[in-house]
Amino acid sequence: MKLSVVIPCFNEEQVIAEVNKRLYTLMNSYIEKELIGDYEIIYVDDGSSDGTLPVLKRLAEADKRVKTISFSGNFGHQPALTAGLYHAGGDMAVSLDADLQDPPEIIEEMIRRCKDGADIVYGVRDDRQEDTWFKRASAMAFYKFMTMMGVNLIYNHADYRLLSRPALDAFKRYGEVNRFLRGMFPSMGFKHSIVTYKRERRFAGTTKYTLKKMVSFAVEGITSFTNFPLRLAFVLGFINFLAAIALGIWTIVNKLQGSAVPGWASIVLPMYLFGGIQLMFIGILSEYVGKIYMEVKRRPVFIIRETYNLGNDSGGGVSNPRRNKDIFDKNQGNSP
Ligand code: UDP
Ligand code: MG
Repeated sequence: MKLSVVIPCFNEEQVIAEVNKRLYTLMNSYIEKELIGDYEIIYVDDGSSDGTLPVLKRLAEADKRVKTISFSGNFGHQPALTAGLYHAGGDMAVSLDADLQDPPEIIEEMIRRCKDGADIVYGVRDDRQEDTWFKRASAMAFYKFMTMMGVNLIYNHADYRLLSRPALDAFKRYGEVNRFLRGMFPSMGFKHSIVTYKRERRFAGTTKYTLKKMVSFAVEGITSFTNFPLRLAFVLGFINFLAAIALGIWTIVNKLQGSAVPGWASIVLPMYLFGGIQLMFIGILSEYVGKIYMEVKRRPVFIIRETYNLGNDSGGGVSNPRRNKDIFDKNQGNSP
């Protein structure tokens, strides 16, 4: 069993040596305990402008199990994670932040859960006292809002998670460019498990998520997972349309009672009516645009975890299911 550890780094020169030391000790203790057979640590340098890359290069030179991917510029946290996971060669891969806010010690429990059959193990923060008030409030509002719009999210789970090989292979089949990983994994199916932890204080340096990055991250999450905002057009248009009809009836009643203002109905009613009809049809148009958007992402229609007695396997019927990983790999293909 080999474990890959994926760490995105953006201007993290102050923390890398420490995280590497912690992981080195931890991984070797796991090998001693025979929890894993081997490991690799993949650092992804997301276009850092400080000394991150030289530090990573030195670590890679000193130890073959340390690998480094360096981007040509700053592509962002989610693309960095994606690159790391694509290059992970282990039977399991765990991703965590470079700043030690996600305590690496819980990887042990994650591995155990994976061995017990979970394909995706989510790290969930049950204590965020170390975060600022603003970070906690904005994160909570975001999770609530996303859930309201029907996006499947794990509350208080960020990007600290462990994936089995089948989950990693499935991940590689997602062809979309806009990536919101914490929405993608829950949409994949698979058996999952949750390990909770206390979010620590950043080991050194400051947050690399500026307000601008946070907002664009939230917008990405919303627009890549739900057509809810598009549907609003239809709902509002329909309400407007109904209001115009009611107003029309009210005008006729008024007219019959002889209290109508001349010219009012012929100006105001069409405004409401056509406003409503237009919004409604923009809403319908949006449904199709939304469909096109979902189609161009080329998400897998289904994900097979394993097959039994399919193809050249001569196992003994359903009573003797035999896992056939070769077929899984052949069928799924990897399309980065
Ligand atoms: N990160 C990255 N690219 C970016 C921003 C952040 O690779 O453009 C990395 C960063 O180095 C860290 C992780 O993403 O390992 C999480 O960032 P940070 O700790 O600054 O976010 P916070 O914990 O404050 O939300
Ligand atoms: Mg952090």
